[in-house]
Amino acid sequence: MSAPSFDEIKRPLPKDEALTEANRCLFCYDAPCMRACPTHIDVPGFIKKIATGNLRGSARMILESNILGASCARVCPTEELCEGACVLNDLHHKPIDIGRLQRYATDPFVIDAHTPLFAPGAATGRKVALIGGGPASLACAAELGRRGHTAIVFEAAPLAGGLNSYGVADYKMRHETALREIAWVEQCGVEIRCNTAVGRDVSLDSLLTDYDAVFVGVGLGGVPPLGLPGEELSGVRDVLDFIAELKTRPKADVSLAGKRVAVIGGGNTAIDGVTQAVRLGAAKVHLVYRRGRDEMPAYEHEIELARKDGVDLVLQAQPVAIEGSTHVTGLRCVQTRLGEPGADGRRAFETVPGSEFTLAVDVVLRASGQEKRRGFLSGIPGLALDKGGRVIVDDTGRTGNPKVFAGGDCVSGGKEVVNAVADGKKAALGIDALLKGN
Ligand SMILES: Cc1cc2nc3c(=O)[nH]c(=O)nc-3n(C[C@H](O)[C@H](O)[C@H](O)COP(=O)(O)OP(=O)(O)OC[C@H]3O[C@@H](n4cnc5c(N)ncnc54)[C@H](O)[C@@H]3O)c2cc1C
Ligand code: SF4
Repeated sequence: MSAPSFDEIKRPLPKDEALTEANRCLFCYDAPCMRACPTHIDVPGFIKKIATGNLRGSARMILESNILGASCARVCPTEELCEGACVLNDLHHKPIDIGRLQRYATDPFVIDAHTPLFAPGAATGRKVALIGGGPASLACAAELGRRGHTAIVFEAAPLAGGLNSYGVADYKMRHETALREIAWVEQCGVEIRCNTAVGRDVSLDSLLTDYDAVFVGVGLGGVPPLGLPGEELSGVRDVLDFIAELKTRPKADVSLAGKRVAVIGGGNTAIDGVTQAVRLGAAKVHLVYRRGRDEMPAYEHEIELARKDGVDLVLQAQPVAIEGSTHVTGLRCVQTRLGEPGADGRRAFETVPGSEFTLAVDVVLRASGQEKRRGFLSGIPGLALDKGGRVIVDDTGRTGNPKVFAGGDCVSGGKEVVNAVADGKKAALGIDALLKGN
């Protein structure tokens, strides 16, 4: 068996396989895959178009619903969404390979070539500022452009795309692919100003005054400190910084050859940390989680990937200190005992006295959830946050400030790219109605 690599795990479908797969679809009426997709792509419709050789029509049908259909085809947890809902599962057959068919239809127009499939709408003279250049804002901006409004995206980072460019594991989607898709979205009439942080390079007040509406798609922040002794040692990092670095630098520069790595957390981001540490050549990789495997928030198929990669799942283990003098040499943990589920449905746990042990490691990655951008968000007049720090919106994506809409991770608290796209599009329809005075 070959060592895990950064090559895409889900390879593109060749034409003959795509046609065979398309012809396996039952073209269900009221298709459950379509309901399971947060952007409600007409899955049987686009697959039928592939089967009849109308690839352009198929791509248009996908992108009408989901402008980031090319990246979603690669990064969506399809096992949990459209493919998980496919009726063939109930008939004990393999579900239709919807993600790869979606890629087959969209790549020729969005990634391989930049074909303009949609013309911008007749200019309305109204303009909208979008804060953040991630999937939520890009989807919102593209939809606004199609409705004739000027949409300008302000992105703090050097590149747009948010976590599509800086977070998604390379073996799902390469950095270059995300950038190709963004260039196509720009070609659809969206203007993106990178290296422009709102609140630093341009004031929030000026956006609220100069634009007819504002969309907030700022996502989430970094991983908060764990508060452990030794956390300041070199070798201890936020997993998001680690992933952003390996996405934007040559792999040889970020090699972990021979290193022992511990990733703290049990969600999908922790899995991305361990699987990529393995691919960077780490000698030993541990995933340290304080509850058991059944309680891990990560998807089952993601946990299975980590297991196949040879990751050591250190379960029911609570980190208590990071050891070392200047550089980390070990992660001290204590065993936990699980109790009954609490009010939040999660099982309580207590530490087991005398059960301490140390993992000898050279790198510790914190992957225990992302902070909310409360500081920035609470500076927006009228916008309210819930107790968890998420922006409160109505069912059109509108916040407590009538001209400010929001969507994506800053509203959901952290979901998937496809959810952010759905939010962005919904908010664009809300903004369009506002601008038309409806
Ligand atoms: C490591 C990791 C891996 C993931 N992998 C997957 C996956 O495989 N599949 C999947 O579907 N989902 C995945 N997700 C989740 C997915 O990436 C997010 O749900 C999605 O990107 C959210 O989109 P967004 O636009 O809300 O926010 P983001 O993608 O976070 O984009 C927000 C943008 O706003 C910018 N910004 C913030 N503040 C300002 C400001 N003041 N001024 C200007 N710009 C600002 C940020 O720089 C950022 O670019 C992953 C998440 C993480 C953390
Ligand atoms: S966008 Fe994602 S969830 Fe929706 S049909 Fe495509 S692959 Fe499935």
